[in-house]
Amino acid sequence: SERVDIHNFAAGPSPLPTPVLHKAAQSLLNYNGTGMGVCELSHRGKEFKAIVEGAEANLRTLLAIPDTHAVFFTQGGGTQQFSSTVLNLLSSHRLRKAAHGEKEFVPPTIDYVVTGSWSSKASAEAKRLVVPPVPGAQPFAKIHVAATTKPSGFNTLPAREQYEFSFKPDAKEEDSNTAFVYYCENETINGVEFPADADAHGAFPFDLVPAHIPIVADYSSSFISRPIPHVERHAVIYAGAQKNLGPAGTTVVIVRKDLLVDTTEASLLGNVPAVPIELEYKTLADNGSLYNTPPVFAIYVSALVLEYLLHEKGGIKGVTATNERKARKLYEALDRAEEKNVLKAKVKQLEARSWMNVTFEVVAKEGEDREKEFLAGAEKQGFRQIKGHRSIGGIRASLYNAVTEESVDALVQYIDEFVKAHA
Ligand code: PLP
Repeated sequence: SERVDIHNFAAGPSPLPTPVLHKAAQSLLNYNGTGMGVCELSHRGKEFKAIVEGAEANLRTLLAIPDTHAVFFTQGGGTQQFSSTVLNLLSSHRLRKAAHGEKEFVPPTIDYVVTGSWSSKASAEAKRLVVPPVPGAQPFAKIHVAATTKPSGFNTLPAREQYEFSFKPDAKEEDSNTAFVYYCENETINGVEFPADADAHGAFPFDLVPAHIPIVADYSSSFISRPIPHVERHAVIYAGAQKNLGPAGTTVVIVRKDLLVDTTEASLLGNVPAVPIELEYKTLADNGSLYNTPPVFAIYVSALVLEYLLHEKGGIKGVTATNERKARKLYEALDRAEEKNVLKAKVKQLEARSWMNVTFEVVAKEGEDREKEFLAGAEKQGFRQIKGHRSIGGIRASLYNAVTEESVDALVQYIDEFVKAHA
């Protein structure tokens, strides 16, 4: 039946731009007059090659990705990258150390910055991969928590002075043994995001990490919502498609080219975990996202979204301006609601507030189930999927690129009315 746009604030999979969906639906039946649907094309044919190459070119333009970095599409989601980052970068670290003449293997350190549920999960997976569960066995690496905001309930960002990296800012390459530093740019569940302004309080302290130490960032839930600060300084940036980019099923990985290594070569040196071939960055990049059969439809829709953002939404400048306004309007409404003791944003530190996932609570009142009332009223007005993640509860409105400013305005109006009725 005809699509009628509603207010969908889902955390992912999330809404897609309506014009993109219309085009995708048409292409499912007949792609560009070929008589074949897009899912029926050969992934090695010229049509699909053009789709992948176009997507990559548009992504490079939108995010100013330099030529020093490879871009490819893969599968397995953000979760697979929790493992892939560790496996690939331990291999490249091992090869680099050997090239510098390391005689005896000393397990390197991996520094995790833990600011919420997803970076916690990533560090837990790293630990599972590198520390054998056998007492006395030598680990492949040590996992070090360089900073954590767990004591705040993951509602803040670490202050600069709270970082305790496993190296000094002036550490020389020969003297350091850190495989990489990891952070999650936007914590989808908690609603905490590193600020857009790289000089703001709470910003990720790039200057404390020497240039030779790789930096890895999970951008799953903030990809192409605004520019990536210091994009060139990252070793790996990855993002599952299903928030800002396209349907679930594909993941974008951006890797600095000198880190694309033959992991079998590293295995020959010993003391690194083996890397399944489908996870090896070099293989994936060398084959232009086509080492094995790619998720054709997910990549195709992502390509349409990239084109739409670039040509219909004013590129990254336009997208950023809209997202900034959407987030500001909603947080302002929540701050008004907090003054009346009705609702309150979970994240108080202004610079830490996520533009993409706005988390808040309904202030409890004895004898009333106000949260239930808020949710029921929201549902009635057509707001969908705004319940907080099951692990932390409360309310969460996700404001990904395809959520229109009109939807946010409508939610703000509902919040103001709810406050008026309950203050
Ligand atoms: N990282 C972040 C920031 C996420 O929000 C998610 C999922 O929501 C993941 C990783 C895991 O991604 P996936 O479900 O694609 O494996």
